[in-house]
Amino acid sequence: MSKNIQGYYLTTINNISELRESLSSARKAGKTIGFVPTMGALHEGHLSLVRASKEECDLTIVSIFVNPTQFGPTEDFSKYPRTMVEDTLLLETVGVDILFLPTPSEIYPENASTSVDVGEIGTIFEGEIRPAHFAGVSTVVASLFNITQPDIAYLGQKDLQQVAVLKKMTRDLHFPIKISVCSIIRDPDGLAMSSRNRYLSAEDRDESLLLSKTLNHVKVCIQSGIGLSDCILSGKKFFVEHSKTAKLDYLAIVSPETFQIPHSFNESKTVGVIIAAKVGTTRLIDNILVSDENSASKSIDITVINAS
Ligand code: AMP
Repeated sequence: MSKNIQGYYLTTINNISELRESLSSARKAGKTIGFVPTMGALHEGHLSLVRASKEECDLTIVSIFVNPTQFGPTEDFSKYPRTMVEDTLLLETVGVDILFLPTPSEIYPENASTSVDVGEIGTIFEGEIRPAHFAGVSTVVASLFNITQPDIAYLGQKDLQQVAVLKKMTRDLHFPIKISVCSIIRDPDGLAMSSRNRYLSAEDRDESLLLSKTLNHVKVCIQSGIGLSDCILSGKKFFVEHSKTAKLDYLAIVSPETFQIPHSFNESKTVGVIIAAKVGTTRLIDNILVSDENSASKSIDITVINAS
């Protein structure tokens, strides 16, 4: 346990039974628990989730677990950035109460074979390109929800499909947990913060701005009343015309809850424009929510959106 300059204590816990004991005492004392699951290599995006939890909850727990089951065989699991010393310092600075740092064998007992399958929503877009990804995410988050049993879990809009998948899992499995979704934190030039941005060379870093620029292009198209499929065609043209090296995986307009493609803007009120592209050897994803200016759902664009 260490005390930071603001007088907060950060307790690091590696095992489930110890964590359960601490949380049960907190619960008995009537404290509300906020939970922020992460894979570490923390940045301001992660810290915004922590700050939202600290605003609303008495006790904030952050997990850092690079979950092997959500990476495909050719993906970057072994080289995923692990920056534990820096992460711990950051979490102390923002006043996190508990850092849960389990090992893979703590999360996955010997011969563990249970997996959570959320159905079709886990098989499209990111799920099509990364076939086992959402089963890995849903399974680990279900475990972490069972272990921590928070009142509120904080997720980032940055991973919009992950939010839709985990909201569905939470509903389908009746976890008594509220999901709060925090807006995307970006660098000043528009690049959405991501642990994987540190893979980018200086040249790739410039090229990566094409993602947010393409999203903004599509947003302007939608807001000017152009039909959704034409907006996507225009966005793809914009991407190809401006790309030096980046390769587009997908660009689409979806309903943020279901990830189905809406026929018209009116049908959905708020749509998500989603993009994935490879820049150099790094795969980046980003999205933007576009609300019908005249509709009541306009408020979804503000800092924190609460899931029902
Ligand atoms: P990760 O460590 O990448 O698994 O992310 C942990 C949580 O932080 C997820 O809920 C992400 O959506 C969220 N997150 C990641 N990047 C950002 C960002 N730039 N802004 C807000 N939240 C983010």
